[in-house]
Amino acid sequence: MRDIIIIGSGPAGFTAAIYAARAELKPLLIASSVEIGGELMNTTEVENFPGFPEGIMGPDLMTKMQEQAERFGTEVVYDDVVELDVDGPVKRIKLGNGETHEARSLVYATGSAYRKLGLPEEEILSGHGLSWCATCDGFFFRQKTIAVVGGGDSAMEEATFLTRFADKVYVIHRRDSLRASKIMQQRARDNEKIEFVFNAEVTQIHGDTAVSGVTLRDTVTGELRALDLDGLFVAIGNDPRTHLVHGKLELTPEGTIWVDGRSSRTSVAGVFAAGDVIDPHYRQAVTAAGSGTVAALDAEHYLAALDDSATPEEAEVEAEAIERLAAVNG
Ligand SMILES: Cc1cc2nc3c(=O)[nH]c(=O)nc-3n(C[C@H](O)[C@H](O)[C@H](O)COP(=O)(O)OP(=O)(O)OC[C@H]3O[C@@H](n4cnc5c(N)ncnc54)[C@H](O)[C@@H]3O)c2cc1C
Repeated sequence: MRDIIIIGSGPAGFTAAIYAARAELKPLLIASSVEIGGELMNTTEVENFPGFPEGIMGPDLMTKMQEQAERFGTEVVYDDVVELDVDGPVKRIKLGNGETHEARSLVYATGSAYRKLGLPEEEILSGHGLSWCATCDGFFFRQKTIAVVGGGDSAMEEATFLTRFADKVYVIHRRDSLRASKIMQQRARDNEKIEFVFNAEVTQIHGDTAVSGVTLRDTVTGELRALDLDGLFVAIGNDPRTHLVHGKLELTPEGTIWVDGRSSRTSVAGVFAAGDVIDPHYRQAVTAAGSGTVAALDAEHYLAALDDSATPEEAEVEAEAIERLAAVNG
């Protein structure tokens, strides 16, 4: 049996692995069978991760994180967790290939998925003028004409933020009214750089190597028209990847995994969660990495408490007490 299994190979998972491996816990990291390296594999230049003043390509950053985790003894398995048993002191995971693994603690770092428009061009143009993150990519659109797709609070927030860089920001929304809160709507409506395009749906993204525009379909008349753009931001929602833990771990109203305050402790002792799967707001590589650190340290304290206890029940009580004390002491 392992001390620790980490599920997910994004910045949260690999950072948890670096810390756990350096604490000699010999972590097993389940990286997924398809999306190894997480969301940053879908982007080009990352300019806001500290330590890379010239920027770094997303996939290169993730390769470096993996190398760093492996250097200290992390074992990486390229498969998906398809089932989890988190009850009791021994946690069990089942992989797609049928193998099962057991550990005394788990770090759940499966990230979240931005909702897509469902257009084939999205795969090709992601990171080439097409983005899901204004904080990450807004800087690349100085004095450009761009559009945000969506009608909720995050679309309003992204559009308003993007006016710091772009000359013109269209907000494209399928209906004739917005879902966003009144205050967010008003802020966007008051901004001279923002123009709303209502009753419009993006049916095609133009551009061979970078976004050059979109085709819009009028949702009332069915009429098609082209809109020239330098960039497109999709802000139609985000789904934390929690399907494996439904009914097993407590979730928040936003659908993320509930954790106790600033810790990574979930509603089940010995199970820790980190990264975008617990984060409805910030969703950045560096916050995910920081959260992976917290999870590894929490798991380390939990395991130490288990080792000092006579029975698993006693250990759980003690681990929780130690963790609570650690949280109080910051
Ligand atoms: C296009 C794009 C560009 C971005 N650019 C930036 C940027 O410039 N700067 C920045 O700071 N942030 C950026 N972000 C956000 C950043 O990528 C995320 O905040 C960060 O990757 C979250 O890390 P994570 O480890 O929580 O999750 P993820 O990176 O989502 O990693 C989760 C991993 O878990 C795996 N997984 C899920 N379920 C299972 C399972 N059942 N079994 C095994 N593995 C599983 C997934 O396949 C994935 O590999 C960008 C995001 C996108 C989509």
